[in-house]
Amino acid sequence: MSKSPNKNWRPATTLVHGGTLRSQYGEMSEAIYLTQGFAYDSSEAAEARFKGEADGYIYARYGSPTNDMFEKRMCALEGAEEARATASGMAAITAALMCQLRAGDHIVAARALFGSCRWVVETLAPRYGIECTLVDGRDLANWEAAIKPNTKVFFLESPTNPTLEVIDIAGVAKLANQVGARLVVDNVFATPLFQRPLELGAHVVVYSATKHIDGQGRSLAGVILSDREWVLEHLQDYYRHTGPAMSPFTAWTLIKGLETLPIRVAQQTSNAAKIADFLAEQSKVAKVIYPGRKDHPQADIIAKQMTGGSTLVCFELKGGKEAAFKLQNAMEVVTISNNLGDTRSIITHPATTTHKNLSDEARTELGISPGTVRFSAGIEDAYDLLEDFAQALKQI
Ligand SMILES: *Cc1c(COP(=O)(O)O)cnc(C)c1O
Repeated sequence: MSKSPNKNWRPATTLVHGGTLRSQYGEMSEAIYLTQGFAYDSSEAAEARFKGEADGYIYARYGSPTNDMFEKRMCALEGAEEARATASGMAAITAALMCQLRAGDHIVAARALFGSCRWVVETLAPRYGIECTLVDGRDLANWEAAIKPNTKVFFLESPTNPTLEVIDIAGVAKLANQVGARLVVDNVFATPLFQRPLELGAHVVVYSATKHIDGQGRSLAGVILSDREWVLEHLQDYYRHTGPAMSPFTAWTLIKGLETLPIRVAQQTSNAAKIADFLAEQSKVAKVIYPGRKDHPQADIIAKQMTGGSTLVCFELKGGKEAAFKLQNAMEVVTISNNLGDTRSIITHPATTTHKNLSDEARTELGISPGTVRFSAGIEDAYDLLEDFAQALKQI
């Protein structure tokens, strides 16, 4: 017995009830089906399922009930027809790109990408004869100029990591449509609650569910969402035969994570906004970038495509690396780590950790200086976080 995702539900309701499949026991909390495979009532039933003539699961690498619940809940939230759960965000992104590309094709990608994503398009794809052009994604003219006759995929994240630059998703989608290419959007930083890339014209949305969707630092996970036609034509066979499938146990932690996603993201965003405003007034801080503030360089695009600010704040300290290290080391509530979207507040120094593999030149292009710090707001009390920043700044 299942509850069908009701289109008219608002996100908070969808995230509690969407996609639930109850077994004959009527369990309240979703069951975890930790099974590799499924039994058939007869040889004929097995044959029919393999032929695709009968509904039902075949093998957990292809799909399984707990994963199905997670995928259906994500589809209902995102407004997508199909989803595939993966073992990590990078498995989702690599599958979403590689399943639709072949030798001789060309990708245009924004240069401000999560480090591993940049490796996939810049280093991995060319090994298989797929060319890639990286552009400053903030200017639509750069996307247009990079188009070649063999351009098949556009790829971007917005807001970007760590400097929270914003890209006009509808504008890039329009260019992609004009040349028959598809736009893949990594929507991790915006969360599915604040930005709906499919409605803005993107063809495929990918998440690292490790971030806000789990949001409690427990799981490594990802998900790919799109329309049924694209999934059947491009992703289905790639996903089944290369094996990026998620563990059902992970799917269950994510189902539970989704139930509280709106509450967590609201608290994180409220905390992030308060910290951004506080930092903007500090003399030791050179610059604050926060998508919820009027002084964000792309506030006009944010107003057009996002319905909330961000759970992240990027800021630059005047004293460079030394000041950044001192601040981080002095924080008491906030932890030094490199996850984001967690219930715990996290602070990161991109130049020496997440972005250390880039050349100095590439880091400068992305606006990452030795004094750049990324803050991911948790769900703690805002005043404890403000006090923590105040005492840590004094120690610089
Ligand atoms: C974390 C992250 C990824 C990679 O996800 P994993 O779950 O770590 O594999 C990709 N893109 C963005 C924007 C991320 O923040």
